Amino acid sequence: MNTPVSRQDETDLDGLLEHCNALRLAPAPDADLLPEGFTGMLGHFPVYFPEEIAHAAGLLPVAVLGGGNRLELKHADARMGSFVCSICRSTTELGLNGSLAGLAGFVTHPICDAAKHLAGIWARNLPEQLSEILYLPQNVNTPSVVRYITAEYQRLRGDLERRTGRPIGDDALRRSIGIYNENRRLLRDLYALRRDEPWKLSCTESYLLTRARTRMPCEEHNALLEGALDAIRRRSLRAKDKPRVVFVGGFCEQPPVEMLEVIDDNCYVTDDDLLVGLRWLTTDVPEAGDPIWALAESFVERSAASPVQHDERKPKEAWLMRMITESRADGAILTAAKFCEPGLDEQVAWSKHLDGARVPYLVLEFEEKMTSFEQMAMQVETFAESLLFALA
Ligand code: SF4
Repeated sequence: MNTPVSRQDETDLDGLLEHCNALRLAPAPDADLLPEGFTGMLGHFPVYFPEEIAHAAGLLPVAVLGGGNRLELKHADARMGSFVCSICRSTTELGLNGSLAGLAGFVTHPICDAAKHLAGIWARNLPEQLSEILYLPQNVNTPSVVRYITAEYQRLRGDLERRTGRPIGDDALRRSIGIYNENRRLLRDLYALRRDEPWKLSCTESYLLTRARTRMPCEEHNALLEGALDAIRRRSLRAKDKPRVVFVGGFCEQPPVEMLEVIDDNCYVTDDDLLVGLRWLTTDVPEAGDPIWALAESFVERSAASPVQHDERKPKEAWLMRMITESRADGAILTAAKFCEPGLDEQVAWSKHLDGARVPYLVLEFEEKMTSFEQMAMQVETFAESLLFALA
């Protein structure tokens, strides 16, 4: 039987969550206060980046997740069309206003035209930084895909070696894979806890705890998650009369935390695709053999799903239905970031499928820079009430 959580434990957990929230608001860690063992930082854009390679190079991986709803855009608008999504605009602003000056480099991916073009903007405006596109395949259903990804990862490995002046050995890579495997296990535990006892951990809290990895070494995040999981398991909170829902559409641009809080106020979010890139590899990466091949093979064989990747073995509709079934959800909240083409495409496919499967859902659009949530709160409240009414 679990020992009940003490007031001190509760205070510690609150303090931990406050710390995670403060980290969320920082564009990047302080370059002058790097953790031991790291000589620099490497920024990377969503969705997925093989952080183990940067970690083994002694570069702290820093996920660049846009500017949230407190950043004023002064420079980016002059470089981008008004139809570009907010995360690309605010990421550019953070680069141009000097907030990311401490990065040794920035890596983006061809997940969409907007994200792909960030690399060119970066190279032109921040020539002192390494600026890269990691060409992860959008379609993984070709026979040579693992060989292709291995070659891309080796290219990245070489570029980081040249940048840092230090070789990235296979043993260092295996050690990093081991540390990240531990992180994957802890994050799976966090999500299992939410599926089983969602009243003990809100979606917002889970998001903040997960996101903390973007601002600290993975080994430090492992310790943070261990402590948090222990305190959450012993929380003595009771289940309330709220419907269970899954939340999808938060795979790239980050929904404001105020939006997540609105949903938490009315529903238990039993699963989501928030920060799915940090949880992309769904089981352990083999720690024996060629570590680069193991990472590449895991990208194909042990991976989650998102609207920016096509894999005929895991259609997105089936993926969503699995989330709903396995987390015993009563309905779904389908979101998409404004101007996000992959997200909006998927939202249409998801809606159509849920109509056919007679699963209730709510469609919401968001932007990271949103500051007003009253109307959204009304929509979510009405949806939650309709779910409870149907369940009664
Ligand atoms: S939010 Fe959508 S459009 Fe914007 S970078 Fe991400 S995937 Fe591309």
